[in-house]
Amino acid sequence: MNEMKRSSGANMSDVKINNRTLILNQLKEGKKSRKDIAEKIKLTPASVTILVNEMIQDGCIRETGQMEETLRVGRKKVFIEINKHYKYAIGVNIEPGTLSIGISNLKLELVEYKDIDINGMSVNQVMKTIIEITMEMLWNMNISKNDVLGVGVGIVGIVDSKKGISKRAYGLWKTPVDIEGILSDGLKLPVVVENNVRALALAEMELTKNKDIENMVFIKYGPGIGSATITNKEIYKGTYNNAGELGHMIMDISGKECKCGQRGCLETVASTRAIIQDMKNAFSKEVLPILYKLVEGNKENIDEAAIMEAYKLGETEIVKEINKVWEYLGIGMVNMIKLFDPYKIVIYGELFKDEEFLDKIVHEIEKYGNFDNITNRIQASILDNKRCIGGVVLVVTELFYKKGGA
Ligand SMILES: [Zn+2]
Repeated sequence: MNEMKRSSGANMSDVKINNRTLILNQLKEGKKSRKDIAEKIKLTPASVTILVNEMIQDGCIRETGQMEETLRVGRKKVFIEINKHYKYAIGVNIEPGTLSIGISNLKLELVEYKDIDINGMSVNQVMKTIIEITMEMLWNMNISKNDVLGVGVGIVGIVDSKKGISKRAYGLWKTPVDIEGILSDGLKLPVVVENNVRALALAEMELTKNKDIENMVFIKYGPGIGSATITNKEIYKGTYNNAGELGHMIMDISGKECKCGQRGCLETVASTRAIIQDMKNAFSKEVLPILYKLVEGNKENIDEAAIMEAYKLGETEIVKEINKVWEYLGIGMVNMIKLFDPYKIVIYGELFKDEEFLDKIVHEIEKYGNFDNITNRIQASILDNKRCIGGVVLVVTELFYKKGGA
């Protein structure tokens, strides 16, 4: 990260940052008394009191409603909570075709949000758009940069998160882009960059507040297929930062060439992009009569929604295609579950909001794999389409919680 002017955090010792992080992580679960915090993190009540008072002074936490129960005459138990208004976080999600930008408070509640069409834009245009829209949002909301923690960017493909560089962004641009350098220069704010599926997996974990999800495989299904593995609350990155490329697991050695350079990747047979391409190739009034009618005979109108409608109306060729897709996706997931044995497998994607599709995938996994209790382990994501939430959680995790609320 570039050198940025920070508040008290810059001068804190590692031990102090660590202890403040422990306190914040306790408060993430909900409000607590100083005494409860001390018991949980195994520090003396006196140390906790000193730290808490200092953090209240800084503004990152605050005292809140008192409990009914009177401990001694004239004294009540006081609770501490995260001060959600202490700082704002900016989240950005970059995918082929769409840019999503949002501003949230520390409770991860979005206060501003926007989707922008970036089809046909160059790298420079996309970066310029992020800077302009962000400045405009801050201006409109009357938010000063001093009140902003930083910017979290989730982007498709391979990311070097230490350097803040997008190394390969499939479907966007072919050369590495120094996202952190460009955006921190333009916005004069700290910037954190990560693969977008990993950022969304972090968001799933934080927003679910379900301990089960601290060990999960998170799968993003759409035009591409990505995944992220969380073990003990941390993203598993791999030696070269390339872990989790479920979409590029090879399913067919003599299959179609993939954008990654390999052949027969899962994405080439089971992504929505692959389905749309297959239907465009097979398009005719005779082979696909229902779809033909739905898109008024124009194959350029074929999209995910039209295909799914035709599927639900029982178009024979589409039912065949989709069944094949579920089969491939199911096999890919069986392999993934065999490798990681996660407690939960969470699927994020428009299609899986439909319970019928989720059931089909569970069925395929049961058909091809042999697992314990698999039905209860697979679930649809709780996240909505506001994908900037991944970037928001990223920046709040990295620059608030891990920095002791600096
Ligand atoms: Zn591939």
